[in-house]
Amino acid sequence: MTDLLDFDLPGLVAHVEGLGEKRFRAVQLFRWIHQRGESDFERMSDLAKSLRAKLHGAATVRPLPLLSEQASADGTIKWLFDVGGANAVETVYIPETERGTLCVSSQAGCAVGCRFCSTGHQGFSRNLTTGEIVAQLWFAEHRLRQRAGSAERCIDNVVMMGMGEPLQNYAALVPALSVMLDDHGYGLSRRRVTVSTSGVVPMIDRLRDDLPVALAVSLHAPDDELRDRLVPLNRKYPLAELLAACRRYLDRAPRDFVTFEYCMLDGVNDSPAQAAELVRLVRDVPCKLNLIPFNPFPASGLKRSPREAVMAFAQVLQDAGIVTTVRKTRGDDIAAACGQLAGEVQDRTNARERLSRQRREIPIHPVATEGARP
Ligand code: SAH
Ligand code: SF4
Repeated sequence: MTDLLDFDLPGLVAHVEGLGEKRFRAVQLFRWIHQRGESDFERMSDLAKSLRAKLHGAATVRPLPLLSEQASADGTIKWLFDVGGANAVETVYIPETERGTLCVSSQAGCAVGCRFCSTGHQGFSRNLTTGEIVAQLWFAEHRLRQRAGSAERCIDNVVMMGMGEPLQNYAALVPALSVMLDDHGYGLSRRRVTVSTSGVVPMIDRLRDDLPVALAVSLHAPDDELRDRLVPLNRKYPLAELLAACRRYLDRAPRDFVTFEYCMLDGVNDSPAQAAELVRLVRDVPCKLNLIPFNPFPASGLKRSPREAVMAFAQVLQDAGIVTTVRKTRGDDIAAACGQLAGEVQDRTNARERLSRQRREIPIHPVATEGARP
């Protein structure tokens, strides 16, 4: 059964033409799916009967099975989706006054294995398909509209900062980004779709050529010796190469800076001397620095930097003229904050049983959008 969420618009056009139908039918179908959140071909009222008949039984708009929906006191919403094989991925919605951001996962687990990341500790299970990446946005957007009782767009920003290393799932990522940007899809601006990477240098170059969106790079250390320990991928792509790739990326990027993420770990990477070294390191790259207070999880053995240390670190950067922000921790009461994703399936032995128990216990209501669905 073909999952229509797997296609970007050019892919859907090719598929629909392969069925002997015209291009504009693919555009109609794409709009029904992404703009209206419709998955039942029979309800796509202006879609030719001939195409509906061909899709019937051969294609589907496949949602990810929802395991849970949790809302935080601050409005953050976390969804846990079953991706089979006792794996689950998480998607987080972060409302802000002016806009809504969706944090999307790209893999079940992650192979990079960063010391401070709960997903990294979980290990790598598998890449998500394009359809599974898109399904997170498809579901969240239409779910939020349903909750708001409105047809207005809810998600203006997508950040590929959920579980997984997006640039290690490049083939699935690029068509998913294309759906997000497409005017017939979600119509998001390139500046408002961010790929966050731990530094897969060759893929940063490919993204620059294929589909440059906003880029965030997870730095976490001002020197190779420390970064080798925190982000093992650094042994393959050391800092000098990574920063050179960032500079090349900026030739084509929709924004004129790269965002560097830096997770603040008590006594590990948070001294004023390290801040000064960081200033020297990024001197030649137009950038913003985003300091992320470490969100602890039991197996990490690491601690969050005290607030004063974060502020002192930020001051050094700011004094050097680098725009620096300290990320607000959102949704930590529901373990939806950065690096806390994956908690639910950490215990792999019992994960399958727990997933099926959750499925029974948590009432899951079908999503309905503008009366388009049950
Ligand atoms: N793999 C990509 C994107 C997913 S991680 C990457 O590493 O960039 C998204 C962000 O969350 C990264 O900047 C990562 O360093 C940060 N992060 C991971 N674990 C964290 C934790 N425990 N506390 C705070 N931030 C964390
Ligand atoms: Fe993977 Fe990113 Fe976590 Fe590192 S921080 S283990 S790259 S998800």
